[in-house]
Amino acid sequence: MKKIYLDNAATTQIRPEVIQEMVKVMSEEYGNPSSTHSFGRSSKSILELSRKSIAKCFNVSSQEIIFTSGATEANNWILNSAIVDLKVERIITSKIEHHAVLHTIEILEKKHAIKVEYVKIKPDGTIDINHLVELLSENIPTLVSLMHVNNEIGTVLDLEEIGKICKQHHAYFHSDTVQSIGKTTFDLQEIPVDFLVASAHKFHGPKGVGFAFIRKGVLLNPLFYGGEQEKGLRPGTESVHNIVGMTKALEMAYQLLEEEKKHISDLKKYTINQLQDSFDGIKVNGNPDHTFYNILNVCLPFSEAKTSMILFNLDMKGIAVSRGSACQSGSLKPSHVLAEILNDDDIKKPSLRISFSHFNTTEDIDAFIEVLKGI
Ligand code: PLP
Repeated sequence: MKKIYLDNAATTQIRPEVIQEMVKVMSEEYGNPSSTHSFGRSSKSILELSRKSIAKCFNVSSQEIIFTSGATEANNWILNSAIVDLKVERIITSKIEHHAVLHTIEILEKKHAIKVEYVKIKPDGTIDINHLVELLSENIPTLVSLMHVNNEIGTVLDLEEIGKICKQHHAYFHSDTVQSIGKTTFDLQEIPVDFLVASAHKFHGPKGVGFAFIRKGVLLNPLFYGGEQEKGLRPGTESVHNIVGMTKALEMAYQLLEEEKKHISDLKKYTINQLQDSFDGIKVNGNPDHTFYNILNVCLPFSEAKTSMILFNLDMKGIAVSRGSACQSGSLKPSHVLAEILNDDDIKKPSLRISFSHFNTTEDIDAFIEVLKGI
């Protein structure tokens, strides 16, 4: 049985070229980058070349890139430090953020007695910008935390527009860019954002590594203590092989961006057409014209009774899709994102998130739809 992976918003297959680079570093460059002997200096040099290469992708300086264990850590650090170090008294966010942001804010709200406000979400899954402006008109030291591409429905935020609004209102702006880094270009000299986060496993790199972009001049303290790595901002011995893998994955993602983006966009269009031809009454969740090119979330015209069986049946045939973010996909609770945008009838029906990569083909889609028809 050929297995078909259509869950690329959860994680991605590592590129073979990335594995090759990582193996080379693991076997040959095992020095601790903090050691002053030649082994350590060599690892340190690899680390700094990686940082430089990543910074170049975003048109920023190397010192604005801090390596972390991934995006959950980077989001926690930034949200926590905004309160503790930057003294914000309010966080404005939305109910459709990833739990790495939402749950962190809920804890911080209790711990620090800050004010948390949620921007309204429109029925197509986009942010109500007028409401954001209205909230910002109240003059309180604020961090706005809004994700770039939603990991469940793929809605896209205009970072430049929101960044400008935040600047006009003297608010800091953090965006969880996990789903878009490596899949679209960013010129951070043009986008007025203070903090971004990335996770390598979302762009065909290794798991357990990511980075935070912290705008020069915004001064944060570390989330935890114990070493001087990353200029004291992120203590702990750097995972050099992972960082090298992430860098290679990002370089390749941007080198191949146009060609891979076209392939994936065509595949998404093909999937929508095939699904519409096969199932009367199928609906795309979110605005199909304004969702990101690798994520498709559909509400199937099936009975509620089939909801619990659908992923199981697909999995039995070797097909991986998801019902929401990976951490929720085993649960029968409706996703917190769909709960914000779907009506009472549609929320009971099964919705599926199909997320593509350049490794997918139209044959994968045909096989997926055949199995779905049999359910
Ligand atoms: N933010 C978003 C939007 C995500 O999709 C994910 C991954 O599922 C995360 C944060 C968490 O990233 P990591 O796996 O690096 O902790």
